[in-house]
Amino acid sequence: MELFLTFQVDGKNKGAILSVKTGYKILQAGGSALEAVEKAIHVMEADTNFNAGNGSVLSEDGEVEMDACIMDGSNMKVGAVTAIKNILHPISLARAVMEKTFYNFLGAKGAMTLAINQSFPILEPGELVTQAARDALARYLLTRDPTIKENIGEGGTVGCVARDSKGNLAAGTSTGGLVGKLSGRIGDTPIVGGGTYADNKMGAMSATGTGEVIMKAVLVFDILRTASLTKESLNNVAAQKVKEMMDRYNGDGGVIGIDRNGRFAMAFSSPQMSWASQNSIDKIHYGVNPGENFITRA
Ligand code: ASP
Repeated sequence: MELFLTFQVDGKNKGAILSVKTGYKILQAGGSALEAVEKAIHVMEADTNFNAGNGSVLSEDGEVEMDACIMDGSNMKVGAVTAIKNILHPISLARAVMEKTFYNFLGAKGAMTLAINQSFPILEPGELVTQAARDALARYLLTRDPTIKENIGEGGTVGCVARDSKGNLAAGTSTGGLVGKLSGRIGDTPIVGGGTYADNKMGAMSATGTGEVIMKAVLVFDILRTASLTKESLNNVAAQKVKEMMDRYNGDGGVIGIDRNGRFAMAFSSPQMSWASQNSIDKIHYGVNPGENFITRA
């Protein structure tokens, strides 16, 4: 059983460690990779330190609009949502799209109607907005330059990949997107194969970084497919493809993944990417800067 998750640019890792513990407990109890991914992401969506759910960054007009995607590698089912407002757990709404509708991807009124029909708590406008998100938007509006990292603030998109005791894989990603984005802008996170993908035959992967670049690189699908065709390790291919993306499109990206044998993969071209992983009862691995691999007791 293995579980691996990440978020971007937070020096502390506390939320990621709590999240990984939550997911791993589900796997230990015989739960599915899909369930573990969803519940691990819940922890980070509820935590204001991440750019997902509560604490999401704000669009240009000061609103939270979130994207999320979840994919089950055991049956190739996928659910995604975009521009979601006033819901704490977009990842669960993505799962509801996957399980309760014929479709893969919902936005606009239909996504909200599904949330209401499935009894998701609907929050008051502004309830997901934090002071840190307001400050980040104010910094962004001074230059309107999305490439200036200081504009973004500390928290990042959250993602998780897992393999359960049956060998099934799942991946999920949830985000508030880019600070100051135009209302209605959709990032890579909910794009199947762009920011999220899982296939028991290849692996599971989740991405963070500049969505405009990740989606045209079809990043996570390209990495999984290339590794599966070349039989190279997922980790090496991830490093190669993330670098290629940086060189070709000049956009930062980071990925976490797991191959069908349960080997973790990770690569990032941003200066930092927080991550945590667990594949044994007593130890959690984590890091932020390139090359780091600390161990803490689970
Ligand atoms: N990839 C996300 C997006 O472009 C943002 C991020 O990962 O920071 O919406």
